[in-house]
Amino acid sequence: TDEDPADPSDELVFTGLGGCNEVGRSCHIVQYKGKTVMLDAGMYSGRDGIAALPYFDEFDLSTIDVLLISHFHLDHAAALPYVLAKTNFKGRVFMTHPTKAIYKWLIQDSVRVSNTSSTSDQRTSLYTEQDHISTLPQIETIDFYTTHTVSSIRITPYPAGHVLGAAMFLINIAGLNIFFTGDYSREQDRHLIAAEVPKNVGKIDVMITESTFGISNAPPRAERETALLKSVSGILSRGGKVLMPVFALGRAQELLLILEDYWQRHPDLQKIPIYYTGNTARKCMVIYQTYINAMNDNIKRIFRERMAEAEASGNAKGVSSGPWDFRFVRSLRNLDKFEDVGGCVMLASPGMLQSGMSRVLLERWAPDQRNGVVMTGYNVEGTMARMILQEPDSIPAVMSGSAGGAGQNMGRRTRDGDDNQVMIPRRCSVEEFSFAAHVTGVENVGFVEEIGAPHVILVHGEKAQMTRLRSKLLSLNNTKSTDVKVYSPQNAEEVRIPFRKDKTA
Ligand SMILES: [Zn+2]
Ligand SMILES: [Zn+2]
Repeated sequence: TDEDPADPSDELVFTGLGGCNEVGRSCHIVQYKGKTVMLDAGMYSGRDGIAALPYFDEFDLSTIDVLLISHFHLDHAAALPYVLAKTNFKGRVFMTHPTKAIYKWLIQDSVRVSNTSSTSDQRTSLYTEQDHISTLPQIETIDFYTTHTVSSIRITPYPAGHVLGAAMFLINIAGLNIFFTGDYSREQDRHLIAAEVPKNVGKIDVMITESTFGISNAPPRAERETALLKSVSGILSRGGKVLMPVFALGRAQELLLILEDYWQRHPDLQKIPIYYTGNTARKCMVIYQTYINAMNDNIKRIFRERMAEAEASGNAKGVSSGPWDFRFVRSLRNLDKFEDVGGCVMLASPGMLQSGMSRVLLERWAPDQRNGVVMTGYNVEGTMARMILQEPDSIPAVMSGSAGGAGQNMGRRTRDGDDNQVMIPRRCSVEEFSFAAHVTGVENVGFVEEIGAPHVILVHGEKAQMTRLRSKLLSLNNTKSTDVKVYSPQNAEEVRIPFRKDKTA
């Protein structure tokens, strides 16, 4: 009841080095009672060099005890090789097993792409493939629902939905419970376990949650699937090609399950190929086959069915491939061997059409009005993916050889500057259906209410979305006896939360 200022040692200090009032380069610092935890180390899509990194200069990374990586997406994990190889960080790093397995290939792939995709003189190489490979042994893995104690900090990961291996972390420092959602989803999809409120963990004091979609809501899953499939089959029936820009891994697997199932039920479509492009994608499918047990009951059921079928036919190979052994999906290493004739559905990365295979195909297919671009992910501001949704009359050509044989020359720019920019007419259709697997406004507010923390810190959302979500959460205080405090800090802005009660572990 006294009004003395809190002892600074009793304050929890939150500092966002990235991913605050923005989507990208997620990296947050939590300090309490002399302990320091870093959450995620991501990069900003569509930016080069230092501008893609979190504000690491704003914090002494040598003081960090533990770094937790929520999932393998580049906006949460791509700066990790930089942290480990190029800074004075000397703490311990944890991620789940599937996250590490996929991270290994994904970062390797992204390093190779970025080393060949830009001729800009300003582009600094943040780290090399060797930096990545040599720092892999420093990353420790941790299982869902198990608790690790590192210099008196207790860490427990819970399934977050979103993508394979994605975790929400419960962190306990000196009795204080801090809960970080990372990116999360709560709807039942075809392969992942949806996020749940952790059970029997006591009161959660501070919640750090994503706010990607603000208070926006989406139609129910079944409706979105129907609309997506109607759009895809509509483009095919008018003789067009369907371009689905996707991030190499994660939500692409969910889309493949949806398409495969639809093709199975529509024999007339079975002559039309579904392509899934990229080298990393092929390697990582093995990881998806390995971690069936980390997935939901639907995928386990398909796995059992496939095993039974394979056994009945005496095909032992079928047993190991399981539900990810698609019948109507062909994988495509690059565009060299791609015969671009007739209709097809093409899942190509990168998801935001910055460069690479998806951009080559966009530039090749955009002029024909029979073709269609079907967007399904979250599109970061300033990327072509965001721009194309405005249905511009023309788009800048950034890939050379877009008229054919693009695989060889993939990644070279035709022009260094914007002067004399070659433009390509855009006549193809553009539609968007969200399968990004972030919580909707209603789901997020419901989850925040269930967690019931007195302090909620919003991250991973553009300013407008975050502001709306904050207002919504604050409006719920009318129904409460004690107000919930909601923070939406800027990057590098400290949030100080006093905890008077002397908590002890
Ligand atoms: Zn993500
Ligand atoms: Zn994210």
